[in-house]
Amino acid sequence: MLDNLDQFRCLKRGNAGAINIDPLQRGGILTPEAREAVLEWADGYSVCDYCTGSLEEIQNPPIKEFVRQVLPEFLEVDQVRITHGAREGIFAAMHSLCEPGETVVADGNAHYTTLLAAELAGLKVELVPAGEGPGYRIEPQGYQEAIERARGRGERVSMAVLTYPDGNYGNLVDPTAVSEISHDAGVPLTVNGAYSVGRMPVSAKGLGADVIVGSGHKSMASSGPIGVIGASEELAERIFRRSKLVPKKELEILGCTLRGAGILTMMASFPAVVERTKRWDEEVEKARWFAGEMEKLGMHLQGDRPHGHDLMFFKSEILYEISKTAKKGRYFLYRELKKRNIFGIKPGLTRQFKLSCYLLSRQEMETVLSAFEEVVSNHPKA
Ligand SMILES: *Cc1c(COP(=O)(O)O)cnc(C)c1O
Repeated sequence: MLDNLDQFRCLKRGNAGAINIDPLQRGGILTPEAREAVLEWADGYSVCDYCTGSLEEIQNPPIKEFVRQVLPEFLEVDQVRITHGAREGIFAAMHSLCEPGETVVADGNAHYTTLLAAELAGLKVELVPAGEGPGYRIEPQGYQEAIERARGRGERVSMAVLTYPDGNYGNLVDPTAVSEISHDAGVPLTVNGAYSVGRMPVSAKGLGADVIVGSGHKSMASSGPIGVIGASEELAERIFRRSKLVPKKELEILGCTLRGAGILTMMASFPAVVERTKRWDEEVEKARWFAGEMEKLGMHLQGDRPHGHDLMFFKSEILYEISKTAKKGRYFLYRELKKRNIFGIKPGLTRQFKLSCYLLSRQEMETVLSAFEEVVSNHPKA
């Protein structure tokens, strides 16, 4: 198989006019500048020509300026490091700031990687339950209650995590309210910005976050795996502490993280990423319009109303009914969309699915809508 990789193709590339509506992928599509950087820096350890012992100190290419100056300004946070992704950032924060056996409090809509990071760091997790559908809201007050529940059992709570927004519904919880509750309880707040850093304007200071993580391949037009972690000076000292054995190297990130093309794609895309965060309001407007049109077809947007993010989760009994009699059954939706060069809804899903129109043109959004319209009107319901 590996001697014949030619037969495998990236579905959406080299497929003129293809429209990708996968929320996971929309924000990670490379800019032309980043695509060029991939080739230029593709070799292993390509950024290490002028290394003086630490990735963050490399001046050619200008990683030092990017990590020490550009990213901290962008995120309004004291210290930044590059990670391999949002999950590695969350893990680094938990592993360095919490002691095994302690408890982290997280929102019930948290990404599974938050739970894995906690488990790997030897921590217990107390969740703030999400409300009933279709809203699935997390109330900031729930953090207070979760902290009290854990403390009532005699546990030490050492971090709060807020997923902003969550990756299921695209819900945005008021981070300053959560921050206030956490800080009153003497607990630092980590904001998981996998779906916000690089899409929306995000300021750690503005959110009240002590730690913030982002995902390059999800929301910063980067070829991953790559992410960012930012922290206040006080916590940065603990997260980015140096090794005792190799005092030049930061221990938590094992000395160096990105050692090749990934970091250059993030840097090459960065000017465009800054610009797109300034147009975030337009993206929210687009999502609201699109969701409204989908609802006219009988599908139901879940999560926040009005919606505040491009990630949209729909329930669609109507497509599920169709799938019962459609040729190819539940795979009919995937096939119908693929026929129209639209990708991103997982094969087999009909009753509920996520999609995003992030950075799609009005015309592309209309193409997607007419595909759903045709699918609904051309199929008999069971
Ligand atoms: C995608 C996602 C992650 C994981 O991001 P990686 O950069 O791949 O680790 C974490 N949290 C949320 C909310 C996500 O949507």
